Amino acid sequence: MASTVKDAILRGRKTVETVVEGSRRKVEDVVEGGLNTVETVVEAGLNTVETVVVKGRRTVESAVSLGRRTVEHALLHNRGTMQAAVLHGREDVRIEQVPIPKAEAGELVVRVGAALTCGTDLKVFRRGYHARMIVPPALFGHEMAGIVVEAGDGVTDFAPGERVVALNSAPCGKCYFCSRGQENLCDDLLFNNGAYAEFIRIPARIVAKNTIVVPENVPMEHAALTEPLACAVHGFEDSHPCTGDIIAVIGGGPLGLMMLHVAALAGYETIALVKHDGQVEAARQLGVTHVVQSPSIRKAIQEARALTPKDRGVDIAIEAVGVPEAWQEAVELVRKGGTVNFFGGCATGTHVNLDTNRIHYSDITLRATFHHTPAICRKALDLIAGGRFQAGAFITGHAHLYELNRVFEKLMNRSSEIKTAIVP
Ligand SMILES: [Zn+2]
Ligand SMILES: [Zn+2]
Repeated sequence: MASTVKDAILRGRKTVETVVEGSRRKVEDVVEGGLNTVETVVEAGLNTVETVVVKGRRTVESAVSLGRRTVEHALLHNRGTMQAAVLHGREDVRIEQVPIPKAEAGELVVRVGAALTCGTDLKVFRRGYHARMIVPPALFGHEMAGIVVEAGDGVTDFAPGERVVALNSAPCGKCYFCSRGQENLCDDLLFNNGAYAEFIRIPARIVAKNTIVVPENVPMEHAALTEPLACAVHGFEDSHPCTGDIIAVIGGGPLGLMMLHVAALAGYETIALVKHDGQVEAARQLGVTHVVQSPSIRKAIQEARALTPKDRGVDIAIEAVGVPEAWQEAVELVRKGGTVNFFGGCATGTHVNLDTNRIHYSDITLRATFHHTPAICRKALDLIAGGRFQAGAFITGHAHLYELNRVFEKLMNRSSEIKTAIVP
């Protein structure tokens, strides 16, 4: 009897345990299944949300980009005209309403971010023309950087919205000089002017050969220094400096100062021969070793020679004034076996008298460097972007396009300004 009761209890417990166990498994399965379902649902939901967000953002971005382009296009072509400086003749520059250029095949239209005044433009303003570069009435100004607003058919390297520096010229790439890597002497150098304006048309050849994307960290007005700096780097390299050389530059204008700065950055001992107080300060700031200030070129040459060991003269003398007297005196500044670079272009029809004996028996090399090549322009922008080159020191003023006449008048009166950024 007792064992029967015990058996019954035992059996009963097992049945209960089996039932409990079975139920637990079922519950666990349900929970597990449920969790998986929830996770799947959440996962799927998240994916859907992310896809929607990403898609949405892309849609918004394309809409904004498209909208901006459409608005700019509409602005460009509905407005029809823009403000631009037009050179009419001697000391006669007028700000006029002219048609906004359209980008033909291979061309760009660039909204000017900053244009810089230049000694060449000042010469053109004074004389009313430039034999090779500009014949009035003509759009004016050639150092600039800006944003592409329109790209003509076939342009694949640049798109609207891109920041670029477009150089003032481009070589043909086919003539004798181009084939020898002397593109600065190209028989068919194509020049472009019109930087003192709201927009500028960049001809196809300049788009293809001499337009460069400006790195994000470089301000527009610094990028606009590419053209003059390319001339300076070219003049410096063309003088073939060797380690340990003493390099003198006659003239403290923008290009003279740039060459001095380039030479100082390359580690050379430098001598600046300048006239004005502002140029003394600028030369010191740019790392020049010695500054000689004198209103007389001859006196400055004597003083500069006295700075070299045993008064022997400098290894390289670069003339960056552009007057015949300075060309002649430059020859007196170099040592035996030295190099003179006639870098400053003088007025048409001028001549110099040189001492033949001095040149021959002292074995003096005479060279002259003109303009730039596409490779040197890239080097110049790299130098600006690199950060060691003090681009900001060369831009000493800012003015609106409307003030251009006043700016040139000021420059003619030998102000201490180096370059003025003209912002349309
Ligand atoms: Zn220039
Ligand atoms: Zn050529």
